[in-house]
Amino acid sequence: MERSKKIIFVSHCLLNQNVRAVGREKFAGSFKDLLELFAASGVGIVQLPCPQLDFNGGLDRRVKSRDSYETNGYRKHCHKLSINLINQIENYLRKNYSVIAILGVELSVTCAVHQIKNGRKSSPGKGILIEELENEMQKKNFQVPIIGVNIDNIYSSIEKVQSLLDFS
Ligand code: SF4
Repeated sequence: MERSKKIIFVSHCLLNQNVRAVGREKFAGSFKDLLELFAASGVGIVQLPCPQLDFNGGLDRRVKSRDSYETNGYRKHCHKLSINLINQIENYLRKNYSVIAILGVELSVTCAVHQIKNGRKSSPGKGILIEELENEMQKKNFQVPIIGVNIDNIYSSIEKVQSLLDFS
């Protein structure tokens, strides 16, 4: 059996909904349709850490606004995580593996790619971890696509990921 040499980096809660803020779970465990797509395509999965687990109540935390996370401590925490993740990605790239994408989670103040939710309102914006990852990639002069998965719109998310895997 030959390894696929294809890797996808996936936000923690897409594989483990147990870390979502209380009341924000969509599945009992993982996003099964995504897992099935990954398994069928032969891509290897790297699970990102959930930065919010170490802040604001961990597993028992409630949904909080972006402002309450926009603190030096939290940004530094995301910055450190992003350095580690970018190093991991670089290791794969150096060995000629294909890093297909990083999958973020829309509406999250930490992991959103295009839309964040602040209270009841959603607006264009990126989460803090995603901003830090983009900055680090820019500094290192390379780019891996960052794709937002919206767990409130499962079908469009699956289509997006499917087309990525089809062309990888
Ligand atoms: S979106 Fe990001 S911060 Fe929020 S639960 Fe998922 S992994 Fe954690």
